[in-house]
Amino acid sequence: MPPFEFMEPALPDEGLRMMRTQIRRYVDEVVVPNGEQWEKDGCVPREVFRELGSLGLLGMRHPPEYGGGGLGAAASVVFAEELSRSGFGGFASSVTVHTDMSISHIAHRGTAAQKARYLPAACAGEKVGAVCVTEPGAGSDVAGIRTRAVRRGDEWVIDGSKTFITNGVHGDIYVVAARTDPDARGAKGLSLFIVEKGTPGFRVGRELDKHGWRSSDTAELFFEDVRLPADALLGEEGKGFYAIMSTFQNERLVIGGLCAGACAKALEVTTDYVKSRKAFGKSLWDQQAVRQKLAWLAAKSAASRALTYSCAQMIDEGQDTVREVSMLKALSAETLHEVVHGCLQLHGGMGFMIGTPIERMARDARVLTIGGGATEVMLEEVAKRL
Ligand SMILES: Cc1cc2nc3c(=O)[nH]c(=O)nc-3n(C[C@H](O)[C@H](O)[C@H](O)COP(=O)(O)OP(=O)(O)OC[C@H]3O[C@@H](n4cnc5c(N)ncnc54)[C@H](O)[C@@H]3O)c2cc1C
Repeated sequence: MPPFEFMEPALPDEGLRMMRTQIRRYVDEVVVPNGEQWEKDGCVPREVFRELGSLGLLGMRHPPEYGGGGLGAAASVVFAEELSRSGFGGFASSVTVHTDMSISHIAHRGTAAQKARYLPAACAGEKVGAVCVTEPGAGSDVAGIRTRAVRRGDEWVIDGSKTFITNGVHGDIYVVAARTDPDARGAKGLSLFIVEKGTPGFRVGRELDKHGWRSSDTAELFFEDVRLPADALLGEEGKGFYAIMSTFQNERLVIGGLCAGACAKALEVTTDYVKSRKAFGKSLWDQQAVRQKLAWLAAKSAASRALTYSCAQMIDEGQDTVREVSMLKALSAETLHEVVHGCLQLHGGMGFMIGTPIERMARDARVLTIGGGATEVMLEEVAKRL
């Protein structure tokens, strides 16, 4: 069967179509044949990051003078969509956390020295990024962060812990949120720091075992008297919360892309399956209820995907997108849930068997209504702006 295709949206750059073809070829030739092994290994091999880097795909949004491509938000959406079409959510999350959720902090607010030190290696896939915001006591409520950073002479000293950190085990460059003003309450008094793997006092705790996204590594991290040079501060002191919220806009946009790709893949494998599966003397597809169910899921997926590209355009135009991106995060993740579970139902008992793509995709989809802003939190952001 030919792959299930949504209509190509109006893209700001003709080159993005070629890029889509290039990513899809890489996914078909490398990711799909090896994804099951990476699920077992619990991580994406570094060689894959290097290959994506050599194709120019890891630094598309970063400044050209540091090895990036200088492209806009739609590039991130096309990238996320095509990675996610692999049907391996863990792989797609590991790569997009690197490109769009961690290293992007350095690209946006790093000094020239920080960009020169980290971006070329990150764009090449030689070094992998992680973003460390969540703590045991601070998830949805980012303002509850307790990790402390204290200025002592020419150094910053960090103490605290983080959890659920993607690329936490195998990453190299960690963007860490910490409280620099103990007297400031809530959103005030947070700052970001760059911590390199191997810094004394910084250690990876448990590698966390997960329900889905099994090909991405997820860790607990500990910071005990970690001494950083003064220039490890990323962006303005005390403005970390606003930096996190601003990068969340891109992260949530990318999640829209991940959901669109996964919806397309789920619809594709399920359409194939119901056309070949016979019951009651005909294929399942010949049951009107079955094909209409798929048509309805396709319609919802297409609507959610259209909002994703529309948000990318708004971001590139410099508009305030908090309301629309919050809508998108809630809508795309909830739509993906409906799609994967509807598709799993149409696979019957086969969809419950480990080793079928739809079973894995249903597990991978589960986290998307939680991570990067839970649906309820997103809907509050929308409600505040109605
Ligand atoms: C696989 C995975 C990878 C992750 N990767 C990273 C990473 O790389 N970096 C990082 O910093 N974090 C990461 N996270 C953390 C993720 O962002 C948090 O799990 C998420 O923000 C939710 O926080 P929490 O788990 O503490 O849930 P809580 O904040 O405890 O919320 C629990 C639930 O309560 C509900 N809820 C919360 N607030 C409200 C509200 N205001 N109104 C109504 N209902 C509400 C929601 O249903 C929510 O799911 C990852 C998590 C997972 C599972």
